Amino acid sequence: MADDNRVPRRYCAVRYPKRRGFAAGVSAERARLLRQSANKWLNGTTLRYWFFDKPKRWTAADAQKNVVREAFGKWKALGIGLEFTEVDKRAEADIRIAFEQGDGSWSYIGTDVRTRRADPRTMNFGWSLTGDPVEGMNTAMHEIGHTLGFPHEHQNPFAGIVWNESAVYAALGGRPNHWSRATTYRNILERIAPDSVQGSRWDPDSVMHYPFEAGLIEKPARYRAGLTPAGGLSARDRAWALAFYPAIGEATTRRLEPFQSVALAFAPGQQADFRFDPARTREYEFRTFGASDTVMALDEMRAAGTRRIAEDDDTGVERNARIKARLRAGRSYLLRVRLHYAQASGRTAVMVW
Ligand SMILES: [Zn+2]
Repeated sequence: MADDNRVPRRYCAVRYPKRRGFAAGVSAERARLLRQSANKWLNGTTLRYWFFDKPKRWTAADAQKNVVREAFGKWKALGIGLEFTEVDKRAEADIRIAFEQGDGSWSYIGTDVRTRRADPRTMNFGWSLTGDPVEGMNTAMHEIGHTLGFPHEHQNPFAGIVWNESAVYAALGGRPNHWSRATTYRNILERIAPDSVQGSRWDPDSVMHYPFEAGLIEKPARYRAGLTPAGGLSARDRAWALAFYPAIGEATTRRLEPFQSVALAFAPGQQADFRFDPARTREYEFRTFGASDTVMALDEMRAAGTRRIAEDDDTGVERNARIKARLRAGRSYLLRVRLHYAQASGRTAVMVW
């Protein structure tokens, strides 16, 4: 073997839309809690994904798509409450996946995929996912992890990594990534705010952690010779996926009746799910009450899965979430309420009339 037997790593560079600021009146504690669960989807949401069929440079053979399909299946197999469905119409898709070779692998983070932009892709795979099948699957699971709202684990401020910064800039500036210093900083060296990571411990085996070659990490000393995550979903990846997206079923879904307010006594980040079977066809209004920040959505239950009818987000603003919709007797609906912040616990309620 030659001395220089390093395989140049290709890395994922996440994309961010403009950061959202909070109004002057929003307290530090409220902003902290909002950031912690920001970008996570409402649990129970059906995320529809679609592969580009044109232009040619964004398309790929089925073998590539199958890796991505299988990776969605692995996340779902954890038993999470999110659903993934492949659709064949672009207009129906939340997640739009391309395979532009040489453009890097990346995704937006969580609900940021819904931000409108000139570039319609929300996820790209910039190298073959089948050349090294294990690496390919890890890449697909990593990008899907971003789409579910998980950031880079090596940027966890609790990691305490001391980088050899000039070596990192040099390594990423060269083949095959050719990153600018800004991209390297944003995706490796910059530490994520402590309130936007999961928990307070570093998990070097997370699927959201990059592998690093020797010479890039100075401390902890045991990683000077390089760091390679175990591959696949770590125990903590599984735990956090299930914490944000626990299984939803009959047992966890309460009934909602018109004019009966239901107190929501749960912690920030938690979600309540209600089933509503309207007795009459008419317009209904759903609302939350109290000094709280919630994201609320109304889904219709259908044989082929749920279909979102409306969604309202009152996080960081002085009003309450509210949905008005004409609902039909004989159909069933699901109301989902995710609490992001409450001034006083148990002082939030939801009602339909
Ligand atoms: Zn990434």
